[in-house]
Formats: sequence, C-alpha cells, structure tokens
Amino acid sequence: MSKIALFPGSFDPITIGHVDVITRSLNLFDKVIVGVGENTSKKYMFPLEDRVQWIKDSFTEYDQVEVLSYSGLTIDFCKRIQARFILRGLRTSADFEFERAIAQMNHYLDNGIETTFMLASPQYSPVSSTIIRDIIRNGGNATPFVGEGVKLK
Ligand code: ADP
Repeated sequence: MSKIALFPGSFDPITIGHVDVITRSLNLFDKVIVGVGENTSKKYMFPLEDRVQWIKDSFTEYDQVEVLSYSGLTIDFCKRIQARFILRGLRTSADFEFERAIAQMNHYLDNGIETTFMLASPQYSPVSSTIIRDIIRNGGNATPFVGEGVKLK
C-alpha cells in the first residue's frame, strides 16, 4: 500500500519553512499531497488560485508532490485522496499545543489516519506566513522567505 501523506495548511503564502518540511518528508512518504485549505470564515491575503499555483511552481521538479485545494474536514479529504497520514510542522511549543489538540481530535474522528510531525529546521523556525504577510503589508522584501514559485508584486 503506498504511503500518501496530506500536508494541510493555508499556505498564505508558501514559505521556505513549508518547502523544507515537504522536501524532507519525501524520504518518508511515496507521495505528499499539499492540501490548500479554503475556509469561508478565514480571511486570506492571497486568493486560493495563487496559493495553489505558487506551491505547484515551487515543486515543478518533484513528481512525488501534488497540490490540491479542499474545504471541509481534513479527515474527510484524507479519505477521498486515500491518505493514511497527515503531515504537520512544529516550530515551537505553542505549535505543539495547538497541533496536539487537532491531532488527537482527528484521531477520535478516524483512528486509521495517523498525524505525523516534522520538527522545523532551526534556520526556518522563525519563518511564518503571518510574519511574511506583515512584511509584505509594510512594504518590506519578503522574497527570501517565500517558496521559489511565489510571485509577489
Ligand atoms: P495553518 O493555517 O493550518 O496553520 P500554515 O500554512 O500556516 O497552515 O502551516 C501549515 C503547516 O506548516 C503547519 O503544520 C505549520 O506548523 C507548518 N509550518 C509553518 N511554518 C513552518 C516552518 N517555518 N517550519 C516548519 N513547519 C512550518
């Protein structure tokens, strides 16, 4: 049975930290599907089409990486794409507490899907989409911190 992992997130926009987690996880999984969330109650800086395209453009040379968008429960999406693993990144203890609750609730919903965590590489642990959006909003240069495929005006 092939090992398919879903890496869910907003990717608003994809950062070098996300790219690092995805690339390193390819040693563990046969395929990583990056699931770009579309949550109607969430406000995004970038439209869904851009968030998806920028991830695709950051991984053109990797046929193990696929990018799809989804809404609704992550667990339901995993079943649809036959992913038995959810992949999440951990930067800080705050990430851990947040992720722990989600992973344990997902386990209640479906104990056949295992959440796996990859610790951030030390050089990327301060990188977050939130800070990058702040840099962009305030006219700073965010290019060094985003995925290769991201086109900022
Ligand atoms: P969400 O909106 O679900 O928090 P994000 O797009 O912010 O989604 O992040 C997706 C995943 O990537 C999360 O598991 C997050 O912890 C992880 N992540 C974000 N930035 C980094 C980083 N610099 N290093 C490692 N993991 C990261």
